Amino acid sequence: MAGRNFLFVPGPTNVPDRILRAMMVSMEDHRSPTFPQLTRTILPGLKKVFRTERGTPFVFPSSGTGCWEAAITNTLSPGDTVLAARFGQFSHLWIAMCEKHGLKMEIVDVDWGTGVPVEQYAEILKKDTSHRIKAVLACHNETATGVTSDIGAVRRALDEAKHPALLFVDAVSSLGSIDFRFDDWGVDMAVSGSQKGLMLPAGLGILCASQKALDMGKHAKLARSYFDLQDMLASNATGYFPYTPALSLLYGLVESLKMIDEEGLDNIIARHAYLAEGVRAAVLNGWKMPLCAKDKQWYSNTVSAVMVPEGVNGADVISRAYNRYNVSLGAGLSKVAGKLFRIGHLGDLNEVHLMAAIAGAEMAMLDCGIKVQPGSGVAAASEYWRKHRAPVGLDASAAEAVVLPKAA
Ligand code: PLP
Repeated sequence: MAGRNFLFVPGPTNVPDRILRAMMVSMEDHRSPTFPQLTRTILPGLKKVFRTERGTPFVFPSSGTGCWEAAITNTLSPGDTVLAARFGQFSHLWIAMCEKHGLKMEIVDVDWGTGVPVEQYAEILKKDTSHRIKAVLACHNETATGVTSDIGAVRRALDEAKHPALLFVDAVSSLGSIDFRFDDWGVDMAVSGSQKGLMLPAGLGILCASQKALDMGKHAKLARSYFDLQDMLASNATGYFPYTPALSLLYGLVESLKMIDEEGLDNIIARHAYLAEGVRAAVLNGWKMPLCAKDKQWYSNTVSAVMVPEGVNGADVISRAYNRYNVSLGAGLSKVAGKLFRIGHLGDLNEVHLMAAIAGAEMAMLDCGIKVQPGSGVAAASEYWRKHRAPVGLDASAAEAVVLPKAA
């Protein structure tokens, strides 16, 4: 098909040309005396993205799922109790993994379209005076439904109950795009991957661990080998990895961290919020269709899940968008399969780029018989973006004002 494919699945996201070029490197000896420079650039750089001084970052050749496993197997023992909420496919899958590892799950099932039920967590934690619960799971951004949860509030619930359980956060589709604060929120294990806000191909699992979580490793009895954090810590301390690292991706990560530094994490977060508001204007004001996120408090700034009307299959909209307009939208997963389509709006994006998702989805919906007003999504998004000040990173003149030296 002529022209380019427009990728709006909520990960993998678009890889900027700068990062693609940075990954085009000849292979080198990962035991060479100069290799540690690479490790010593990446790990401190990741600390900034996690907003941590106390946490220890890890990079595995895996996807985010591998780091879910690293988080639990390095801290817990068979039969330990874990508190978790299920409100989408990813929060569900982490629970399923814990069950496979023989952990006892205390599961709070809530409506898909809502997020971590902090009040219920608080009650359960207060009642658990014997501290049976060893870890609490929280999916910061449920990519399947476009829902963001309040992780700071989960920390407060733990603190108010004076509960020592570890706080594990899935930050796969929030890190580097939605405000995430490892230290301020007292997170013990934060899990992410390379293919979302970090703008890289899939292939790196990214983890950050607190000292408390690392100390738990001394007694944790779940089986682990490849994902043993102690092996990684020992190698990383010398600047190396315990096995062959994914070299091209690591060079890509150096460039990604540079780009994040140049734009500034706060500016990136502001850009994602601003772009997401434009998409929501298209969906809610233009098309007048509901989001899966049931209320403003849950709106995600990295993915919007649009509910299709009864009688229409969301999968048909996605196929039409792909086959006819070369636009890739995200599918509904498991319980919401066919009921929605998702627009990923994270990573290396601007307003006009996102217009392709809105225009493509709109044409595909019309082709599938959804009676939206033609042009209404594009009009509503453009109205929002034109009226609101673009954050640094999108507004070239604002960026210039920041970087230009003062005239003598
Ligand atoms: N958690 C969330 C919130 C996700 O969105 C994803 C993937 O999209 C995962 C976990 C799994 O990550 P990966 O596919 O990198 O293993």
